[in-house]
Amino acid sequence: MSKETNAELYERARRVIPGGVNSPVRAFGAVGGAPRFFNRGEGAYVVDEEGKRYLDFMQSWGPLMLGHCHPEVIEVIQNKAALGTTFGAPCRVEIELAEAVIASYPGLEQVRFVSSGTEAVMSAIRLARGATGRDLIVKFSGCYHGHADHLLVAAGSGLATAGQPSSAGVPKDFAALTRVIPLNNEDALRELFAKEGDRIAAVIIEPIPANNGLLLQSKEYLLTLRRLTREAGALLIFDEVISGFRVARGGAAELFGITPDLATFGKVIGGGLPVGAYGGSKKLMSHIAPEGPVYQAGTLSGNPVAMAAGLATLRILEREKAWTKLEEMGARLEKEVTTALADVTVPWAITRVGSIFWLSFQGAAPRSAEALDQTAGARFKPLFHAMLDRGIYLPPSAYEVMFLSLAHTAEDVSLFVRNLREVIHLTAA
Ligand SMILES: *Cc1c(COP(=O)(O)O)cnc(C)c1O
Repeated sequence: MSKETNAELYERARRVIPGGVNSPVRAFGAVGGAPRFFNRGEGAYVVDEEGKRYLDFMQSWGPLMLGHCHPEVIEVIQNKAALGTTFGAPCRVEIELAEAVIASYPGLEQVRFVSSGTEAVMSAIRLARGATGRDLIVKFSGCYHGHADHLLVAAGSGLATAGQPSSAGVPKDFAALTRVIPLNNEDALRELFAKEGDRIAAVIIEPIPANNGLLLQSKEYLLTLRRLTREAGALLIFDEVISGFRVARGGAAELFGITPDLATFGKVIGGGLPVGAYGGSKKLMSHIAPEGPVYQAGTLSGNPVAMAAGLATLRILEREKAWTKLEEMGARLEKEVTTALADVTVPWAITRVGSIFWLSFQGAAPRSAEALDQTAGARFKPLFHAMLDRGIYLPPSAYEVMFLSLAHTAEDVSLFVRNLREVIHLTAA
């Protein structure tokens, strides 16, 4: 039995893992202190190595729509694992999950499974370039698409400039093939397409940008994007790694009634195991090897355990009318927060789409990365730790969204709101 504290585990981890973590935000860099090392999950709750229990609004950054350890998903995983965890050859359940994904999402005729959201996006970009014979890609500042080289790019100065690497190790020449423009800005979009439309292979966007706060875009804006890409012969990629199967069965495409050329998935479709996917029309997908010349492969892609976990999750979501229930729970949370915080003097706003919500500690909810109040990060710290002390686990950054799962009850929501009301004054400037 481990008797180590979180702080001791962190120290030990830092000796053998860079920063002590396998993904940077986990290190609590933005909030300070030792990260919690989790030992187990129970529905809406997690328990750390010290035995402290937390109500979890991070839910592993989105995959766990059913909460931790849904008994049916766990049973499927156990049964499937007992038959073999990977074959490196086709298995039936890959077809079943592909059929379920295709039946759910607008315009999708084929999907290819990979092992992470990053891999899905990286592959979709390669496909877009291979299919169009063009090199430029366009992303929006504030959208995150995983850590592939061409997407670790930040805006240069000016509205539509060649990007600058946002990570060491990304060659300037790679970044130069990426254009970065602000969200919620039709002028920037039009200007870029007027100048370089015929060189653009694809525009990639989180249709519900949820990696830098929750920066809601208007349907009109997304329709303009759809029209401009079509006119220019560029592909539109919806990165639905967070929003896919989360905000609706058919993700943001269904909510907005806009069909992209390619879509990328991750998080929810793995049912808590590592899965990503990208898909589109049969015609576009036929560019991928072995049918076409765009190479993409994976040793563990489509492994039966992950496929079965994803499939079980999608079936339970369907059966439980998850999207309706989560919209109701989300609306309840939004209403309770709005009522409870009506008279507080510090600035705040809540943004929400279904079970994704975000509290911004600035007056009006921003719609672009440029509109984010950069002081919120520091002001969030004391609130984060006060909530943690009270047994409520929030994502460890002011700019990360929170998630409800089907395991969150009305009592859990009220507990969150009551505690938030008591600590929100800590965000005062
Ligand atoms: C999480 C995320 C990714 C990256 O997925 P990983 O599985 O972490 O590689 C890509 N795009 C979006 C929109 C995401 O939220």
